[in-house]
Amino acid sequence: MSDESIPYIDIHAHLNFAAYDTDRQAVLDRMRAAGVYAINVGTQASTSQIAVDMADQHEHLFAIIGLHPIHTDASYHDTDEIGQEGIAFTSRGEVFDSAYYRALAAHSRVVGIGETGLDYYRTSPDSLEKQKAAFHAQIALALECDLPLMLHIRPSQKSYDAYDDVLEILKPYKEIHGDRLRGNVHFFAGTPEIAQAFIGLGFYISFTGVITFASGFKELVKAVPLDRIMSETDCPYVTPEPYRGIRNEPTYVIEVVKRIALWKECSETEVKRTLYENACRLFKIGGRNQTPSTKI
Ligand SMILES: [Zn+2]
Repeated sequence: MSDESIPYIDIHAHLNFAAYDTDRQAVLDRMRAAGVYAINVGTQASTSQIAVDMADQHEHLFAIIGLHPIHTDASYHDTDEIGQEGIAFTSRGEVFDSAYYRALAAHSRVVGIGETGLDYYRTSPDSLEKQKAAFHAQIALALECDLPLMLHIRPSQKSYDAYDDVLEILKPYKEIHGDRLRGNVHFFAGTPEIAQAFIGLGFYISFTGVITFASGFKELVKAVPLDRIMSETDCPYVTPEPYRGIRNEPTYVIEVVKRIALWKECSETEVKRTLYENACRLFKIGGRNQTPSTKI
């Protein structure tokens, strides 16, 4: 692939959310013009189904399907995620239905399971058992389907507790399943030591646009080897500089790549190429029969 034809890749986007209902096609057109691919990540049954439908229709989109830890319990309602209509729907927690998600995972453009993990920030302590049950079930499905995990890990304030607990949960699986257990830690905000512990278990580390405006990420990004880093937006949230204040979208992943290149003292082209190769390696993009059934 020539340098110009290598795409940027946003490995964690939510174009499947209601925040894009009025102008989704325009967002997709801007991605195509800028040479940006994205993986839309599901957070519950409905958004997982939409992610698969979008990947089925657009050659620059892929899907990851699963149940977010905050949706295992009665959760606050985010209109950016499922719009006004979902208010009643989110008043109950979803129990992870392996059969439902197994059927979605059979689609060739599904490249992972998640987002799953532990969230100690926005949840009540009594949801912990539900979060853990859903996490174990999704690890089992990922191993069964030979797909990587997309991890969401959010500790309580001024703590790394959820990272420690996820590492403890993953270790026994690693001992039994070896390289078959693998994935990415999305929105990483831990220490270099925690990053190294995940890399040791076969995981990659991804950074959002937060690195363009929050302090404390420079040493972390420098410490993680470039061949284990991936770029993401987590759109519609956390818009990077210089677009702060407006809704985020996958094309802004370019700002994340630029910042990584600056701190790694590498050319933007080299970083773009390496991050794309990393995503291809973990998610087997280009490695399966991934032709969308319809092209729009
Ligand atoms: Zn997400």
